[in-house]
Amino acid sequence: MNNENMNTENVNENNLPSNFIKEIIDDDLAKGRYAKVHTRFPPEPNGYLHIGHAKSICLNFGLAREYKGLCNLRFDDTNPATEDVEYVDSIMEDVRWLGFDWETRLFYASDYFDNLYNYAVQLIKKGMAYIDSQPSDEIKNTRGTPTEAGTLSPYRNRSAEENLDLFVRMKNGEFKDGELVLRAKIDMASPNMNMRDPIMYRIRHAHHHRTGEKWCIYPMYDYAHGQSDSLEGITHSICTLEFENHRPLYNWFVEQLGIHHPRQIEFARLNLSYTIMSKRKLLQLVNEKIVNGWDDPRMPTICGLRRRGYTPESLRNFSERIGVAKRDGMIDVALLEFSIKEDLNKRAQRVMAVLNPLKLVIDNYPENLVEELDAVNNPEDETMGSRKVPFSKELYIEHDDFRENPPKKYFRLSPGNEVRLRYAYIIKCVDVIKNDDGSIKEVHCTYDPETKSGSAQSGRKVKGTIHWVSAQHAIDTEVRLYDRLFTVEDPSGDKEKDFKSFINSESLTVLNNCKIEPFIKSAKCGNKFQFERLGYFCVDSKDSTENNLVFNRTVPLRDTWAKIERG
Ligand code: ATP
Ligand code: MG
Repeated sequence: MNNENMNTENVNENNLPSNFIKEIIDDDLAKGRYAKVHTRFPPEPNGYLHIGHAKSICLNFGLAREYKGLCNLRFDDTNPATEDVEYVDSIMEDVRWLGFDWETRLFYASDYFDNLYNYAVQLIKKGMAYIDSQPSDEIKNTRGTPTEAGTLSPYRNRSAEENLDLFVRMKNGEFKDGELVLRAKIDMASPNMNMRDPIMYRIRHAHHHRTGEKWCIYPMYDYAHGQSDSLEGITHSICTLEFENHRPLYNWFVEQLGIHHPRQIEFARLNLSYTIMSKRKLLQLVNEKIVNGWDDPRMPTICGLRRRGYTPESLRNFSERIGVAKRDGMIDVALLEFSIKEDLNKRAQRVMAVLNPLKLVIDNYPENLVEELDAVNNPEDETMGSRKVPFSKELYIEHDDFRENPPKKYFRLSPGNEVRLRYAYIIKCVDVIKNDDGSIKEVHCTYDPETKSGSAQSGRKVKGTIHWVSAQHAIDTEVRLYDRLFTVEDPSGDKEKDFKSFINSESLTVLNNCKIEPFIKSAKCGNKFQFERLGYFCVDSKDSTENNLVFNRTVPLRDTWAKIERG
């Protein structure tokens, strides 16, 4: 990742790392340009939020918190065609879940349609906007190129009266879609293409999810956004880099109208390796059933990450850690994984679970004896205490923890070799029983009763310790393992190939015969655990039932990806 993004050195007055946005804000406050910081998060309700939006939410709400200011939630619902109430609800849920509160300041750009209309009338009256009757292709074709000026529209010199009359009739529904547009009258020769008489309003005879049939003209984003910011008293309008060239237009509108002037600041959007960050492409994955919905735990959506087992704290820490950059870059997904491991290491209850079970019989252990052994709930947090784990003659261990013909430096179980069973005894493998097809059916061991963990004589050392679950007490569960959704770092980076050709066909592995110690019986949806030695897992909130728990692996303890690469 870009080191320049990392917040390590400069710490500001609030004892939080500084960045270029905070420097601008500090300067504005020092010069008295604004009295109190007021930001906003302005999602378009045309999809579920992703981790890039999480970055923007943490930034906007975070700045408001840090500067004791305010942050609004505003739905940018200026495009009636793609918006949906389902998305509005999910966005509110995600912002709250991340730990932020817009209090009473929930707004919709559509709340301002009357204001925006009246502002447009003012600009028309000032001679700063005109109705263009050219077809949309013609408007596009006469914009010129970055090096050549555009051509003036033959309608550019309509009188204010005529423009006003046409605009009112446009609003009243007298024209068809595309027949007329309202354009700002700025400069067709501007080196900035956004300033070449940009369209402010177009005709769309469409139902809007909030205003119904009231409007058949809808404002363009560039016109609606700044005026909405201004109406809400926003001081710092933070957006992503692609809007840098739109800033002169943003400023032009508020200056021509003489209304409150927010400052637009651009930062680089978050790109994360091995995934995509475009709602349009994410929607494609959902519609084409390449994933199981927006909240599929492989998705980079906030609801997908939540279902996967990510915590709000881990996403906030991730966002703080990556900082804000002025240039586009790619953040390594390993950094996101680090953030959740760091958080869950401190908080997650430990349990023993066996994902690929192999039966192990302790020949010299009494037939009906069950011992309740002490196990630590979280070595990072003493206050979490300990629990009892039942131990008996028949256990399950991980298939991987036994090798009939061990390679060098294999310190787990193999014929004639000793290992310690975590929280229990040292055992020695004395026999291997095979199925007819030659596969291993079960492993037989003897145990050394003198080596019970925690007892005075337990001091004898062996090289390997493995985990286990008592067979008669085991809870059967389904466990879903997730790998990266794409096989390459930048699936959208190849202009020749469709991003879907990089889908990782092994991104989901379902294990149906997993065994977990009985403590897990009390687990509730969303609860998070460390399965010792394996990783962090959470109870799936959608597919689990009381008698049938389904677990999602949030993240493995070690980097399995690296292991594959090393062969
Ligand atoms: P997408 O490209 O995924 O459709 P968008 O920019 O169209 O995203 P909006 O709903 O308009 O999505 O975004 C709401 C806010 O989130 C905007 O202020 C936008 O700048 C910000 N945002 C969107 N994607 C990212 C990202 N990858 N990193 C940081 N901020 C982002
Ligand atoms: Mg957008």
